[in-house]
Amino acid sequence: MAAEPATVTPELRLNPRASGFARRGQPWFYADDVLAGSVTPPRLVRVLDEEGRDLGLGMTGTGKLALRLCGPWPGLAVPDRDAFFRARLLTALDARAGQLGPTDGARLVHGEADLLPGLVIDRYGPVLVLQATNAVVENSLDAIVPFLAERLGAEAVVARNDVAVRKHEGLAEEVRLLHGKRVTEVAIVEHGVRHVVRPFDGHKTGFYLDQRPARALVQQLAKGRRVLDLFCYQGGFAMNALAGGAASALAVDQSEPALAQATAGATANGFAGLQTHAGNVFDFLRGQREGHANFDLIVLDPPAFAKSRREVEGAERGYRDLNRQALRLLAPNGFLLTCTCSHHMDGPRFEELVRQAAAGLPFRVVMRQRLGAGPDHPVLVTHPESEYLKVLLLQRLDA
Ligand code: SAH
Repeated sequence: MAAEPATVTPELRLNPRASGFARRGQPWFYADDVLAGSVTPPRLVRVLDEEGRDLGLGMTGTGKLALRLCGPWPGLAVPDRDAFFRARLLTALDARAGQLGPTDGARLVHGEADLLPGLVIDRYGPVLVLQATNAVVENSLDAIVPFLAERLGAEAVVARNDVAVRKHEGLAEEVRLLHGKRVTEVAIVEHGVRHVVRPFDGHKTGFYLDQRPARALVQQLAKGRRVLDLFCYQGGFAMNALAGGAASALAVDQSEPALAQATAGATANGFAGLQTHAGNVFDFLRGQREGHANFDLIVLDPPAFAKSRREVEGAERGYRDLNRQALRLLAPNGFLLTCTCSHHMDGPRFEELVRQAAAGLPFRVVMRQRLGAGPDHPVLVTHPESEYLKVLLLQRLDA
């Protein structure tokens, strides 16, 4: 075997400040946090503090993020790549064991929180959809995919690598079948509702798995209510409202194909009473007559308006306007389930915006419940960036 070039060491040392952050659980580091050792080529490394004490394993990268920590590992050597991924994948699967039926959808691997930075894997029944966002994970797919496919008996494994962050690591944006047959549609059942997931061209990995707890809540609250599902996509919330006995459900989205899927989904489930409106939600809300309270339950689940820190201010105005308009359309005692999926908008900031939206309205607004993504999307508490979805249940009270 040829000797490794002198700069490619199996270990990296962090400077004292970065070592302190690492010890406290922060997983992300930049090139100037590194005291000794090279971050190129991208590989699995042993991470040490400035005095050579072990800080576990890390993945190096060529982008802005030079190093992502991936947890402790016995001994002092760098493990074999297959052994590392197998162990981490098994731990992630074990953590979700017993929670999944054969036709269920769930996130099996959630990046940093599962000590697998740069890897997301969602399961939709027999189909697995993954996202690899760093070079170490990308270069290890030949180990990850056959192992998972065999272990879970997957009919298909699809890479939804059409995500912009890949370019920071010099990786192409692509959607690719990695294993098995090309399954373009797969049905999952959640809270008794059948949803059609499109692994190759649906949003994200095919479906918004993260909103599972909120969909259950909508189903519980919907009985006899007039429901409005804003930014509905395939009507996941509207269908749960109808499953829960809603008197009516109006689903609004600017995408005609998404609305066609919502209609087909409602029909397939045997739900009557779904109406759709194609158009811009901002225009739709402005077009509703003020003081003409129409809805008993409104779901407001917009896309992430703030894709970067710079866009936060404009995004805040958008969230505030939408929430205010939606609150105005609530009937007495009506509920607003309001969401943000932008990780640039933290929980306290979002609640402040909602407070501003509610100020001066001729009724009280109370917060009944705070929700987030389900337990299959764990949040690493020392990495708050991983908590991107915030959901609040508000209620209008008049007396
Ligand atoms: N609530 C959905 C997910 C929403 S995704 C669910 O639970 O599955 C965001 C949706 O907003 C997309 O379907 C997109 O087409 C739509 N959208 C984005 N901007 C919009 C706008 N200004 N008006 C109407 N729809 C919009």
